Amino acid sequence: MIHEIQVKSALHYHKRAFATHWDLNCYRGCGHHCIYCFAQYSHKYLESEDFFDDIWVKTNIAEVLKKDFSKKSWCGACVNVCGVTDGYQPIEQEFQLMPAIIQCFIKHRNPLTITTKSHLVVRDLSLLTQLNKVAHVVLRMSISTTDENLREKLEPHASKIQNRFETLKLFAAAGIDTGILLMPIIPYINDSFENLENIFKEARSCGVKEIIADILHLRGYTRQNFLNHVQKLFPQHTNHMCSLYKESYVDKIYSKVLYQTIFNLRSKYKFNTQLPNTVRTTQYLQQLELFSQHIS
Ligand code: SF4
Repeated sequence: MIHEIQVKSALHYHKRAFATHWDLNCYRGCGHHCIYCFAQYSHKYLESEDFFDDIWVKTNIAEVLKKDFSKKSWCGACVNVCGVTDGYQPIEQEFQLMPAIIQCFIKHRNPLTITTKSHLVVRDLSLLTQLNKVAHVVLRMSISTTDENLREKLEPHASKIQNRFETLKLFAAAGIDTGILLMPIIPYINDSFENLENIFKEARSCGVKEIIADILHLRGYTRQNFLNHVQKLFPQHTNHMCSLYKESYVDKIYSKVLYQTIFNLRSKYKFNTQLPNTVRTTQYLQQLELFSQHIS
């Protein structure tokens, strides 16, 4: 079911930064149906528990963003767009919220980073290229396998892997910095050396500048949902998975070996740098805190 809602603020501040301290999400819930989805916690305040099929659409978000950007207290920090739920999920084809949001970033010359699993972002390439002329833009594509059959099981409604790599190529050719979120790496399922190396190789050929990798975490709601899917889709791995995940985080020896493999691949394919996360945040920390209190 679709719920159209009005929001009071578009920008939200997080003390612990991922890409930046600020994020903007235009949907609650996500139609990509990833079996490992980490964002299901964001539905716990809503009446529905169906994260994947009950989608809340923030129809006035561009209007509200205009107001947030116009406040004197706004610091001009880089904003992580779609950091929790994917702004280019299937429903975006109908609601088209992202173009108006990007227009606001252009008007205010405000940097952004977008994280997605969808090639629908290509629709907005010319707007993002325009923005990149006046403020830094980063597109991060989430890719954890090069095996299309496996992708269909893990992320059934997200874009095909080849389309995601093609998208990265197009953005890099347009002069936009791109990265890959190689996550989640799931023990027994997509953690083979061959799979990880294929992603590094493809990243090189697509002009990607950064790869951020991480192992699956099974916190809160995610744990039982994920293990139910493993039982259904990969029954041969259920017992091994449960013994590696006695709690929310994977066994320490496993993670040490895996991170060493990633470290070696980074060196081999020369992915030793990270893109700047925030452009103007540091000198505005005080304002960030003040603005956060103001809009929350
Ligand atoms: S794209 Fe992200 S938010 Fe959407 S279902 Fe997948 S993991 Fe969850």
